[in-house]
Amino acid sequence: MDNLLLWLFYISTFYAFIPGIITRIFGFRVFRRGSGEHEYALTFDDGPDAQYTPLLLDLLKRYDAKATFFVVGSHAEKNPELVKRMYDEGHLIGIHNYVHKTNWLMRPATVTQQILKTDKIIYSITGERSSYYRPPWGIVNLFDLKKKRGSKFKIVLWSAMFGDWKERIGADRLTERMLNKLQPGEVLLLHDCGTTAGANPDAPQQMLIALERVLEEAKRRGLKSIRIDEMIMAKEKTMEKKIPRSKLVIVKLWLIWETIFHKAFRLKTVNPHDPFLHYRLRKYRGQTIELKNGIMLQKGDQVVELHFDNEKLFYFGVRSRSSVHIAIQMIRSMEKELPPLAHLVMEDSGARNAKALYGVSMINRGPQQFGFQVIDLKDGLVSKSTRLYLKFLLSVIHPSGHSRLKEHSQQLVPKMILMPIDVLVERYAENGSHRHRQEMKHSSEDHPDHADDSDLSLAASTQGLEGSTPAI
Ligand SMILES: [Zn+2]
Repeated sequence: MDNLLLWLFYISTFYAFIPGIITRIFGFRVFRRGSGEHEYALTFDDGPDAQYTPLLLDLLKRYDAKATFFVVGSHAEKNPELVKRMYDEGHLIGIHNYVHKTNWLMRPATVTQQILKTDKIIYSITGERSSYYRPPWGIVNLFDLKKKRGSKFKIVLWSAMFGDWKERIGADRLTERMLNKLQPGEVLLLHDCGTTAGANPDAPQQMLIALERVLEEAKRRGLKSIRIDEMIMAKEKTMEKKIPRSKLVIVKLWLIWETIFHKAFRLKTVNPHDPFLHYRLRKYRGQTIELKNGIMLQKGDQVVELHFDNEKLFYFGVRSRSSVHIAIQMIRSMEKELPPLAHLVMEDSGARNAKALYGVSMINRGPQQFGFQVIDLKDGLVSKSTRLYLKFLLSVIHPSGHSRLKEHSQQLVPKMILMPIDVLVERYAENGSHRHRQEMKHSSEDHPDHADDSDLSLAASTQGLEGSTPAI
């Protein structure tokens, strides 16, 4: 168990949390929650609705509350006067696709189209473009949004939702749930339209009753609902204040580096719809090693290099209640990803002819259960610079960086993890379910380019090792 936890500590600290936290601090990725002392944010999805949206706007006006509406493009098209009214009354308008469909069921290009079409509708009504996007059911497929034209949109999720799309929840229960979450910084998700799948047409009626009570209570407590753009701006300001200027510069440099890295080294993703492992073919540059199957790995040989997905690891971190839970999720994901990876490798002649699966990590014993061998890096420039790099990152970013570093400095050693490609194929290609394999094949055929230029959130696992200089 100790090893497991240690493994976890390294992965989560170095590969997931640091970049994850940085990107979130600066709001580059998904926004869920703000900060502030008296401000919270009301957000309304799925509208506008001819029946309920006018009532909602009246109510907000009465309490001088500003909100953010994530409108469905087709609904906006049908009710332009309501969109105009939202705009005129000082609310922010965001996008919630053109039709209310989950992004999982759409190709990335289609999602982009949906967003742009809705943006156009909003623009034609208000004369202003939208920069905020909330995917239906909060299902984020970041691939869509990093594509050139979609990249200007900021994704906004929420910190609290209440089941207000069901009528049977009733105004009383809804009020109670909402009051529990009525705190500064919270982003409340509500719906001003009940015609989407799974909702009840008259559910907004209950929502409006509950909302009025909540607005009354908010007034009593001196809390004010503000727009999401204001909340994001305020959060960025307070975050910047908390971090010393010198660190801020370093963090920004790191972000630039990360972007360059991902643009320069086009990585492929094992499962583009739920990224966990990324890989690319490259030439091995380290010392000669005898692999498990007796084959010698030498400088210049092709290897398939692995990277973890930071976004995914970060989500494991925030969603899990304990470190053990994170570890279990990591292990399950690894088990799930190795068979499709084996299939992808089999289908790619370049990768199939590579000698080994290769990665550099701080993991010492964990990977062995998956068939990896763990090998010390030669104590050269690469090893030294990686150590320095991670040390540096940790001390800059991690709140208890220095003390943790001292505690674990003995184990803070980057090692190579290796598995012969033949072993990968033998061990995992047979186990992968046929269905899953078909899915993978389908998705890569469908969008052959989309794993390439889309992922900006790859693991830090070997970034510090590229070339032979530390990253920053
Ligand atoms: Zn929705």
